[in-house]
Amino acid sequence: VDVTKHFPVRGLLKRGAGRVVHAVDNVSLKLYAGRITALVGESGSGKSTLARLLAQLYPVTSGEIRLHGQPVRATSGKAFRDHVSKVQLILQDPFASFNPVASIASTLKRAVSIHHADKRGDAQLAVIDDLLTQTNLVPPRQFTEKFPHELSGGQLQRVSIARALAASPEVFLADEPVSSLDVSIRLGILNLLRRLTEEREVAMLYVTHDIASARYFATDTAVMYAGEIVETGPSETVTQQAAHPYTKLLISSAPDPSRVDTERIRDIGQPPSLITPPSGCRFHPRCPFALDRCKQETPPTFELADGHTTRCWLYADKPEPAASERPDAS
Ligand code: SF4
Ligand code: MG
Repeated sequence: VDVTKHFPVRGLLKRGAGRVVHAVDNVSLKLYAGRITALVGESGSGKSTLARLLAQLYPVTSGEIRLHGQPVRATSGKAFRDHVSKVQLILQDPFASFNPVASIASTLKRAVSIHHADKRGDAQLAVIDDLLTQTNLVPPRQFTEKFPHELSGGQLQRVSIARALAASPEVFLADEPVSSLDVSIRLGILNLLRRLTEEREVAMLYVTHDIASARYFATDTAVMYAGEIVETGPSETVTQQAAHPYTKLLISSAPDPSRVDTERIRDIGQPPSLITPPSGCRFHPRCPFALDRCKQETPPTFELADGHTTRCWLYADKPEPAASERPDAS
C-alpha cells in the first residue's frame, strides 16, 4: 500500500473550516504471504485507520491499495466485493463484533452462505464444524448453539477468526486482537493466528501498542508515529537495534522492557495533534536528540541495513553537527 487518509474535521472546531485530520500520511507498507507484520504505535498514531483503509472501510484520500500488485479500486462491483472478502478484519473486542441475539451457528451460516454459496444443509454444517475445529473450538457442536454472551472473550475471538476464515482470506488485519482479553489466554490466540498465517499463506497485519509482543509474534515490524511510518525492519532488528528515537521510547515504556534490549530514553511529551502536526519531523517536540533541521525539514526514509529503514535525520549520511560539536559553538 501507499496511502494517505485525511478526515475532514466536523464539529470539533468553531473556526477552521476545511481543516483535516492527518490520520495517515504517505504510508507505504508491504505485507507478505505467510508472514506477520506488526504495526506498532501509541493510540491515536493512525494504526487502526490504516487497518481500516486496507479493509476498504474508508476510501483513501490519495494513493492506492494493491493486492498482488493490482490496485483495489473503491467501487461497488462484484470484482471489488471479491477483493474485499480476501481481506478480513479481526477487531479488538469480539463482543462488539457479534450480533448478541444470533447463535454462533447462525452467524457462521451467514458467513458460509456468502463465501461458499454452493454449500447447503449438511455440507454447510460440515464447513462450520471445520472452521470451529481449525480455531480449536472442539467439539464444534458444543459451541454452535451458544450465544456470544455464553462464551468467554477468548472463545468468542476464536469464533471471529473462524468467521474470517470462512472467506478464505489472503490478508488478515488483526487490530489489537488480544488486548481486550485476559493475559493468560493471549498467547493461545496469537499462536493460533500465527499457525493460520503460516499454514494458509495468509499475509497478516498485527496492529498493537505492545512492541514486546511484536518481537515475539511478528516477522517484520513497522513503527507508526503521528500518521507516519518511522521505522521498519525485521522484528528482531527493530526491537534489539532500534534506530528511531520514537521506537526507543516505545521500548523504554513497554510494560516489560526486559524483554527487549535497547537504549532507554525518557518520555518528554505527548503525541501531537493530527490536525496541525508539527513541522519537519513530527516527533521533534518529544525527541531528546532533535537537531535544528528536524524542526523544519521532514526526514526522508534512510536505509540502514537489509530491510531496516528509518525516517530520522540522525541517520543521514552527513548529519547536521550537533550544536555542541559545531566549530562556532566553543
Ligand atoms: Fe529526533 Fe530529529 Fe530524528 Fe526526528 S529526525 S526523531 S527530531 S533526531
Ligand atoms: Mg486502535
